[in-house]
Amino acid sequence: MPATLIDGKASAARLRGKIAAYAAELKSRHGLVPGLATVLVGSDPASEVYVRNKGKTAEALGFKSVHVGLPAETSQETLHAKVRELNRDRSVHGILVQLPLPKHLDENPMLDILDPAKDVDALTPINAGLLLSGRAHLVSCTPAGTMLLLKEYVGDISGKEALVIGRSLLFGKPAAQLLLAANATVTMAHSRSRDLPALARRADILVAAIGKPEFVKADWIKPGAAVIDVGINRVSAGEGKTRLVGDVDYEAAKEVAGAITPVPGGVGAMTIVCLMHNTLIAACAQNGLPLPTAL
Ligand code: NAP
Repeated sequence: MPATLIDGKASAARLRGKIAAYAAELKSRHGLVPGLATVLVGSDPASEVYVRNKGKTAEALGFKSVHVGLPAETSQETLHAKVRELNRDRSVHGILVQLPLPKHLDENPMLDILDPAKDVDALTPINAGLLLSGRAHLVSCTPAGTMLLLKEYVGDISGKEALVIGRSLLFGKPAAQLLLAANATVTMAHSRSRDLPALARRADILVAAIGKPEFVKADWIKPGAAVIDVGINRVSAGEGKTRLVGDVDYEAAKEVAGAITPVPGGVGAMTIVCLMHNTLIAACAQNGLPLPTAL
C-alpha cells in the first residue's frame, strides 16, 4: 500500500491561519504588532527569494516587516553595527540574518552579538543550550516544523527508533534533541557513519537532511516507517529545465514507507510558517505576555 502523503502545505496553511488570528488578537487587545527584520548581505539570487518570501509572509500575517539589504562587501563591523541597532529596536522582535554570509564574513561572532531573545532562527549558543536543557521557546524552524508534522501524522513517538541523517546546527542537531525530548530513541548519522542502510532499516522514523539528491533508497526503509525528507536539491529535468528533489528516492520510497513528505510541499512548507510562529513567540516573550507555544 502506498504511503500516506505528509501534506506540509496543508499543515502550514492551518498553522498560518492560527498565527494570523493570534496576531490580530495581540494587536486589538495589547496594541502589539510582531516585528520581523531580515538582513541579507550581498545579492545571492536564492537568498533574495527566501528573504523576500519571509517578508511577504510576515506582512500577510499582519506583522511588521523590515528588510535590511547590505552590499556584498560589507565589513564584519558594519554587519555587527546593524545587528546591534536591530537588537535595540523595540518594534523588532525577531531578527533573521540570512545565511550563508559572503565568504569574508564570519557568522559566529555575529551570532554572539545577536540578542538571543530575537534569534528567531534559534542559532545562537544560548538558544542551542536552552534546547539541550529542555527550556527553549525559540526552536530552529525546520526541526520545529518536522515535529509538528510527526505529531499530526504519527502521533506519539515515545519509544520509537528515530534516525537523523545529517548533523548541521540548523537542522540535524536540533531535530535530534526534539526527537529525544519526545522520548524517541535517537541515532544521529553523518558522512563518517558506517553502514547507513543498516542504521536506516531499524528506523521507525527516518529523517534525512543531507543535501544529496535521492540518496536514501527504498530498500533502506523499514516497511511502514515515517520518512521526513528535509533535503532540497535542484537537479536537471532535461531540455535546460530543472526540478527540486529531496534526499530520499521518493517514487520508490513511497511504496515502502507508512508516511512520507514530498519535496516540495513537505517540511519546506512548514519552515517559513514556523519562523513566523517564532516571531510571534518572541514578541509575546519580550512584552511579558503568555507564549503561544501550542498553536
Ligand atoms: P549541511 O550543513 O549541508 O550538512 C549536511 C549533513 O549531511 C552533514 O552533517 C554531513 O555529514 C551529512 N552528510 C553528507 N554526506 C553524507 C553521506 N554520504 N552520508 C551520511 N551523511 C552525509 O546540512 P543542512 O544545512 O541541514 O542541509 C541539508 C539539506 O536540507 C540541504 O539539502 C538543505 O537545502 C536542506 N534544508 C532544507 C530546509 C527546509 O526548509 N526544508 C532547511 C534546512 C536545510 P558531516 O557532518 O559528517 O559532514
